[in-house]
Amino acid sequence: MARFPIFGGDTSRRIAEADSVAVIGLGRFGRALALELMAAGTDVLGIDLDEELVQSLNGQLTQVVRADSTKEEALRQLAVHEFDRVVVAIGDDISASILTSSVLLSMGIPVIWAKVVDDRHGLILEQLGVHHVIYPEKDMGRRVAHLVRGAALDYIEVDRGYALVKAAVPAALLDTRLGDTGLRASHGVTVAAFKRGEEPWRNADADTVLRAGDTVLVVGPTSSAESFAQLR
Ligand code: ATP
Repeated sequence: MARFPIFGGDTSRRIAEADSVAVIGLGRFGRALALELMAAGTDVLGIDLDEELVQSLNGQLTQVVRADSTKEEALRQLAVHEFDRVVVAIGDDISASILTSSVLLSMGIPVIWAKVVDDRHGLILEQLGVHHVIYPEKDMGRRVAHLVRGAALDYIEVDRGYALVKAAVPAALLDTRLGDTGLRASHGVTVAAFKRGEEPWRNADADTVLRAGDTVLVVGPTSSAESFAQLR
């Protein structure tokens, strides 16, 4: 019998009514995600099979409960069926991930996110109908490849073939109105924002004049955004 009570649905139901997310699986990924949601002001119901993990997060999430997410009854007791958004952060135990996702889908949860460990696992969840399948290792590996390869300070591929890159300002753009640089035509990217020293990020427009030492965020096709980051 669990040392931690399976809370009655009342507390969870209250969480479900707020701006809230249920996170199932509180390993490194689920835990980081749950704590980040909390820091951003979103209520989190955390669920894990592991008592020690649950105990270690007690007081850091809105509610954290030990339960087996493959059991529909356990999830119903926690009012998980009343959540609009649920994240399945179980990776290694593929059968637990599949069973949990299938229970959530049959409950009619509107938006389910699930992390997977490989393509085979991802394909199964996509075929089941999970709304957002995420590949943390694969995505991070690809992202780091671009950082290692180029001069970008940060890199996010927004979609296949389209990226947002953080970079230093190349000399050719200094001390000129962005609107007069012809950057879009010459390099196929748009400067979306810039940062000067300790000042906060500001949106860029045609009248923005970049100075030496500024950092910019540019968006555009991946190859163009990467080429931009390599300009000196
Ligand atoms: P990470 O990389 O995030 O640490 P992982 O993929 O290595 O995750 P897993 O073993 O897949 O780790 O599981 C993540 C968490 O999910 C673990 O804390 C585990 O206890 C929990 N978990 C696994 N099966 C269930 C289940 N049936 N019900 C609830 N939680 C579960």
